[in-house]
Amino acid sequence: MKAEQTFATWVEVDLKALKNNIKIIRKETAVPLMAVVKANGYGHGYMPITRTAEEAGVDWFGVARPRMALKMREDGIKSNILVLGYISPERIEQMICLDVSLAIWTKEHIGLVEKAAVNCQKIARVHLLVDSGMGRLGCHPEETLGLAHLAEETNRVELEGLFSHLAKADESDPEPTRKQELVFLKAIDVLDKEKLLPGIIHMANSAGTLAHPETRFQLVRPGLIIYGLSPSPEVQLPAGIEPILSWKSVLASMKELPPGHGVSYGHTYVTTKKELIGVIPVGYADGYRRGPGNAVLINGVKAPIVGRVCMDQFMVKLENVPNPQIGDEVVLIGKQGDEVISANDLARVWQTINYEVTCGIGARVPRIYPEV
Ligand SMILES: *Cc1c(COP(=O)(O)O)cnc(C)c1O
Repeated sequence: MKAEQTFATWVEVDLKALKNNIKIIRKETAVPLMAVVKANGYGHGYMPITRTAEEAGVDWFGVARPRMALKMREDGIKSNILVLGYISPERIEQMICLDVSLAIWTKEHIGLVEKAAVNCQKIARVHLLVDSGMGRLGCHPEETLGLAHLAEETNRVELEGLFSHLAKADESDPEPTRKQELVFLKAIDVLDKEKLLPGIIHMANSAGTLAHPETRFQLVRPGLIIYGLSPSPEVQLPAGIEPILSWKSVLASMKELPPGHGVSYGHTYVTTKKELIGVIPVGYADGYRRGPGNAVLINGVKAPIVGRVCMDQFMVKLENVPNPQIGDEVVLIGKQGDEVISANDLARVWQTINYEVTCGIGARVPRIYPEV
């Protein structure tokens, strides 16, 4: 089957499926949703993702880096944006001028934010991040009250949110999540007693959103599941949620090699008989790793990868592929005929997580958004 694109390799994102995924999650959770679109929308291309999510009624976006928040504002995204993590002091003013909400967790942050807010004559919107057990960013739980007071005392800083992040919500044992929740609830209680509790309390990533409803509070913060992937085998996706990303390429070349012929660097594969070997123009520079044991789909059939993956191409054995032709569509992730290769399948052979697979698809791979 001839490929429809003229690129060597490309990613197709099904925005209709994205919208559907978001609708299902919103219905299931019944609280507002912050779509986490960091890392270029987990590799899917943040702008079309953000626009589509807005159409599906999402009005909060979570990003990791201020640069992305800046780009989103430049592209006309007016919804709420929260920078979830580190921001260099030099960037704070820019973010506040752009009405981007910031995560804070130290006294120093509050000082910097206040100064920046004065400079751009705005009220800075901040979310206080409490480390309830992740051991990453955030204040110690017992510092929560002091920081909230400090923010309150400045008249330039609005404590808009209080949040925390879950470390083990994707595992079958609910106990560690329950423990984090109790720590967070205590911080909430302390602020509540002092009438310092902000309006938006949030804690749940994808796994929390689905597997631990009590962590939903007033906003859920899913990333992975909006893209149709499950954080772990322990977390069941609601019916109807589908992966939205396919990764494709073309059969660029093929030739018959005689028995005993090496294939690719190091000749880690040597033909044992006359073999038809195809070349796929995708390599580790596109984020396709060298890990062994992979296959791609050509004409609805799995073709195993042989030899080492190069920077810009890899080779496949075409033995089982019916009538292969140069220009045939090749599926690296996605469906073809009755066969499927999922991001989870690649994660398994690469000994990593599906998150890393989609985030790792190289910047040089074009993302396209077919109307379906
Ligand atoms: C990445 C991230 C999320 C989303 O995580 P998923 O597992 O993809 O749902 C939520 N909150 C924070 C703070 C994050 O860093």
